Amino acid sequence: MLHIKSVCRCIQHNVYKSRYYTTRKNPFVKTWNTLSNDMLIKKRAVYPEHADVVIIGGGFIGSSVGYWLKTRAGSGLSVVILEKDLSYAQVQNNVSLGTLTQHFSLPENIQLAQYSAEFFRNIKLNLNSETDIKYRPNGNLILASEKYAQRLEQNVAIQKEFGVKNELLTAADVKEKYPWINTTDIELGCVSTECEGTFNPEAFLKGLVLKNSDLGVKYVDAEVIGFDMEQQRDVLMEGVTPGGFRKISKVTYRTKDNEEYEIKFAICILAAGGCSGEVAKSAQIGVGDGLLKIPLPIQHREYNIYNIQDENSKVSINTPVIMDTSGLWLQQNALDNNFLCGYTPLSTNSVKELLAENFYEEMIKPSLFNRYPKFQEHQIKVLRTEFQDCNTYDETGILGSHPYHINLVIAAGFGKLGCQHAPGIGRAIAESIIDGHYSSIDLTRFGFDRLLIDEPLVEFNVY
Ligand SMILES: Cc1cc2nc3c(=O)[nH]c(=O)nc-3n(C[C@H](O)[C@H](O)[C@H](O)COP(=O)(O)OP(=O)(O)OC[C@H]3O[C@@H](n4cnc5c(N)ncnc54)[C@H](O)[C@@H]3O)c2cc1C
Repeated sequence: MLHIKSVCRCIQHNVYKSRYYTTRKNPFVKTWNTLSNDMLIKKRAVYPEHADVVIIGGGFIGSSVGYWLKTRAGSGLSVVILEKDLSYAQVQNNVSLGTLTQHFSLPENIQLAQYSAEFFRNIKLNLNSETDIKYRPNGNLILASEKYAQRLEQNVAIQKEFGVKNELLTAADVKEKYPWINTTDIELGCVSTECEGTFNPEAFLKGLVLKNSDLGVKYVDAEVIGFDMEQQRDVLMEGVTPGGFRKISKVTYRTKDNEEYEIKFAICILAAGGCSGEVAKSAQIGVGDGLLKIPLPIQHREYNIYNIQDENSKVSINTPVIMDTSGLWLQQNALDNNFLCGYTPLSTNSVKELLAENFYEEMIKPSLFNRYPKFQEHQIKVLRTEFQDCNTYDETGILGSHPYHINLVIAAGFGKLGCQHAPGIGRAIAESIIDGHYSSIDLTRFGFDRLLIDEPLVEFNVY
């Protein structure tokens, strides 16, 4: 933008120099001024210089925040989303499956999942009539060994308090319903009877983006490369030398044409998925002193998805997603003889298993052939390696204002739940900005403060 202005001034200057003898406006200058003004206006429309709310990352969560802010505030708030890849190639590759589950131990996760089920049921009303997320309410089946049986019972009791409809099964019940599952090492099962299943995440994201453009959310195809920090002498904060507070008020972003622009904001939402930890560093988070000392512990984690083609499969098309005691999950891939499977650590401590060198040999293979003896090794292949945005501190998402940069709202690190929780997370952020507090689901415990006081918030059932 700046360089257009200076080119403009330079050309005007030269033209005036050669035509100084007349006071009438030179027709070339007149045309140039009109054209360059038009160009500036167009550029500004494409690359805005300010917005009430700037969202970094236009994935599930960023787009949902944009949706809720505009749905609630309409033209009262300007919302710009900076997204470094508007083709969403990474998201498309990343999300091969969308599982909606309510099998959680943390009430916040249960409530978010319940709200998502409602949002997805009314998706055509919420987004638009063409959005088809292919929601298949086939439920989830959780299998617990003796070691985890008591934990499963406790979780189900918590879930029931929130009205989740599910049913505990003995190993014999599981065998009767699903004869192709080996139940010899199973103590207890739990199957959901409502509001759980699978959906197409890509269709959901597309629906959100299309709806957002109707609502007036502006997407800019650009990568955020830094924050601009302004000194504010009048702010006093614990741990900060008086007069030394530096507030973020602008981000710098780089367009596909390698041009750099700045955008000023009142509030910035950090929803950059697995890149959030890196982006936060440019606001000194994790590299400064005092409240800025603690990093945002969110990064990408690799995740292998396997495909099983079983021509003789006798399983029903309505088979639920199955979550095994070992962390192994199995999901029917639309067709009845094709399956997807992978592994999710059952607890933070077992994350290192994911990173094991012989991961397939040590984790996937024994669990898969133990639970589903009919599968043969030659039927299994790695479908792809995907990435999740993981909070390496306690594996639970981080949501809410940063304690130093209170105008920076973090919404990332939801791991395998970012897609299914997106409707409720977007709504919660809009509430915190517009109402000043969470009015529907209290998500205060997801805040960054738990890192300051070192109190992890652990979800036992992150499948
Ligand atoms: C194998 C696998 C299976 C999954 N299954 C499920 C599931 O069943 N259910 C579920 O709920 N979730 C699932 N997930 C997780 C889900 O995909 C993520 O939690 C979700 O994508 C997170 O959404 P997000 O908006 O926070 O991040 P993302 O979707 O990663 O979006 C972040 C966006 O920020 C952009 N960005 C990053 N840095 C910058 C920058 N500097 N400037 C501008 N833009 C930037 C990125 O391009 C990206 O589009 C799965 C993930 C994987 C890998």
